[in-house]
Amino acid sequence: MGKKELIQKFQKDHDKYWKVELFEREGYTRKQCKKCGKFFWSVGSNDICPDATCTSYGFIGNPPTSKRFNYADTWKEIDKFFVSKGHASVRRYPVVSRWRPDLFFTVASIIDFQRIEKGQVAFELPANPLIIPQVCMRFSDIPNIGVTGRHYSSFVMVGQHAIANEKGYWKDKCIDLDFELVNSVFGIPKEEIAFVEDAWVGYGAFGFSLEYYVRGLELGNAVFTQFLGEMDSYREMDEKIIDMGAGLERFTWITQGTPTSYDAVFGPIIEKMRKDSGIEFDMELFNKYAKISGSLDMDVSSDIGSMKKGIAKSLGITADELESKIAPLEAIYAICDHARTLAYAINDGALPSNTGGGYNLRVVLRRALSFLEQYAFPFRISDILELNCKELKPLFPELLENLPQMQKIIDVEEKRYDATVKISRRIVADILGEGKKFSSNELAKLYESQGITPELIQKVAREGKVNIQIPSDFYDSLTKNHITVKEEKSPFDATGLPETRAVYYEDAEKLELDSTVIAIRNGAVVLDATIFYPEGGGQVADLGTINGVKVLDVQKVAGVIFHRVEKLDFSEGQRVYIHVDGETRKALMRHHSATHILNYACRKVLGNHVWQAGAKKEKERAHLDITHYEKLLPEQTKQIELVANRIVLEDRKIKITNMDRSEAEKEYGFTIYQGGASPGRLIRIVEIEGGVDVEACGGLHLPSTGKVGMIKIITEERIQDGVSRIEFVAGEAALNYIQKEAEVLREASEKLKVSPEQLVSTEERFFSEWKERGKKLGELEERIAELEAEKLLPEAKGGIVRKVLNVDVKLLEKIALCISERDVTAVLANQNNDVVAATFENSELDASKLLSQLYSKFGGAGGGSKRFARGRTKEKVSFSS
Ligand SMILES: [Zn+2]
Ligand SMILES: [Zn+2]
Repeated sequence: MGKKELIQKFQKDHDKYWKVELFEREGYTRKQCKKCGKFFWSVGSNDICPDATCTSYGFIGNPPTSKRFNYADTWKEIDKFFVSKGHASVRRYPVVSRWRPDLFFTVASIIDFQRIEKGQVAFELPANPLIIPQVCMRFSDIPNIGVTGRHYSSFVMVGQHAIANEKGYWKDKCIDLDFELVNSVFGIPKEEIAFVEDAWVGYGAFGFSLEYYVRGLELGNAVFTQFLGEMDSYREMDEKIIDMGAGLERFTWITQGTPTSYDAVFGPIIEKMRKDSGIEFDMELFNKYAKISGSLDMDVSSDIGSMKKGIAKSLGITADELESKIAPLEAIYAICDHARTLAYAINDGALPSNTGGGYNLRVVLRRALSFLEQYAFPFRISDILELNCKELKPLFPELLENLPQMQKIIDVEEKRYDATVKISRRIVADILGEGKKFSSNELAKLYESQGITPELIQKVAREGKVNIQIPSDFYDSLTKNHITVKEEKSPFDATGLPETRAVYYEDAEKLELDSTVIAIRNGAVVLDATIFYPEGGGQVADLGTINGVKVLDVQKVAGVIFHRVEKLDFSEGQRVYIHVDGETRKALMRHHSATHILNYACRKVLGNHVWQAGAKKEKERAHLDITHYEKLLPEQTKQIELVANRIVLEDRKIKITNMDRSEAEKEYGFTIYQGGASPGRLIRIVEIEGGVDVEACGGLHLPSTGKVGMIKIITEERIQDGVSRIEFVAGEAALNYIQKEAEVLREASEKLKVSPEQLVSTEERFFSEWKERGKKLGELEERIAELEAEKLLPEAKGGIVRKVLNVDVKLLEKIALCISERDVTAVLANQNNDVVAATFENSELDASKLLSQLYSKFGGAGGGSKRFARGRTKEKVSFSS
């Protein structure tokens, strides 16, 4: 069943679902739209629905509200109203939704309050009812941003959420409040407010909804989430949820009635950018254009080009004229949106890169940069970012605090982009030169492989008077390709089995246990209780035995622990003795606690943008992957090592508590999800005391940092764009490592007969001597080649010396060249079947052709030019015949 069928199903009993008390009280009646067939509720006798496709915007230049509000004040008004009605005002959640393993960015306010438990969505509201200004990210409309006047890559969703119980409310109260907000607070008469019947499906829950509109603009959508599951198999929720989302951007816009939503939202920033750009804008033309373009939806009719042609025609100018006058302003809007998105995302812990959600960020950053280039705007992205952070200070003061770090990251990205621009000129010229076309595929390939945006290609092509159209779904398909949700299928099936008692959590020191076999399944043993730590959170499984049989792997599925053993010689109900290797366990614990310490050290040294991107803890070594925008410098690595070892020396307590998830989020923030999302309502919090590090983590830890012993970083490398891997060892493994290093040093210094301290200077001396000798050797070879050539010249027949010599290929080439310098052609071979040919200027002979003759006779292949060629034959060359 699709959404359409769902609406039809609800419509069979429409009053039960959509009718609310307000409609009765205020005289709203249900009508069907003459144009699109949708059902809606309004006062009066209008039979056209208020959706923008049926009713064009009627507020531009003529706002229906009693007052004008800027962006921040609009939120303050809304917040004040809901708080006065008993709602808790909740701070925004991060835009990077680390609590959701299936999403990268927060796409709606309700996402804040959803957690995944055993594959099911669970709703958890920190207060009931509540109001929140949630920043959301959406990257499916990139070509529309700046163009339609209302599309954004990030926006604030005003989230009004409640649970339908005695503290919260259900649909009647919800619509009462929304109506009061629009009607009383913003002063829009009820005749202007209409509601459209709709439904909403997503993320494992669905319900019916009422969208409220004013003069063609949808201000909000109140979803009444009543059912859990998919549309084909669902159940009614025990506690139904109100999910009302309204666009803060839209509320501001309707109070101001500006040509585009961007003018209302970004206000002074746009004004400044317009002035600084030095371009004279025809604002009268733009206002006319905006009225038409505002009702365009590129999702429906996707050819922007032909649409603009249509608009130009209705404005009485040519499409080119329109483009030249409108496009720079559209670019300004887009840059402003993109900069704001980058500010939110970087502040909340994402980085532009070529993978995952970071991919979208680089796409918008590069799109903004190519606009700067295209129109030669005098401002920088960092400037626009700063202006945005300042504008948003009343709403989100955290942005301005992290501004310097954001700007540093943008600077690094800009340099990368500049390098790309240089090579793109060449590549585009090549493709155009070959007469090839820029298909969607070709454009995507260039972006994927070289980071060249279509805008840049357009610009470079225009320099060569070639017009290239960007397909409107370009960015959509580009970003879609990169949103993949990984779901690994476990080979173990836990259905019907009771959860295994995890004794390692009760006592991490316990290395022996008597237990009972519960089941033999999927080639593994399941016990009623175990001390084997299963692989998880990057920590490998414990080693040990069950009744003396070696355990190869331990995995946990839905609370059930599976032990894969060397020989499956067990039976259900059998009592067994299990033993875990203490050495391995200790090493794993050290490495795990060390990972948390290092992660803290990295954030301390590099900045708050650092997040754990992955980790692995083995017995002999471990690694921590962190997000960082450039390669680590040696001094930074040293500093990280120092900070980490200081934490060790301070011997801080490592405290483990089981906490209610929402309590933990409230107390410690979302940095607890460094290691990823944690399933379950109760989460295990590992805290290194003294404000060092707090993470939701299922791993085994030492009681205090002192027990970790020394932490030694071994290597550091960038393993992918935006991610660095730090390999390290801790405790005894660190000692082993240092001892081995010392051994190498000792051996090297013994061989060179110097002390270890003198190794570096000795090595330098040897190196320069070696280089000097190499130079002398080269000179000698040169001399030999000359002498050899001298010797061979008299053997020339018909102006060609043909000879097989017993020298290496380098010397062979030099000799050939020496001969050709004397205006004699050389065709030489050696004992390794290398062949070279050299001719001289103005010679009629062709070196590569001469070698081709050899290949046809002796086999082989090679390459080269008319003057010089080389290759290799299959058989030995002989010139005797
Ligand atoms: Zn309609
Ligand atoms: Zn951990």
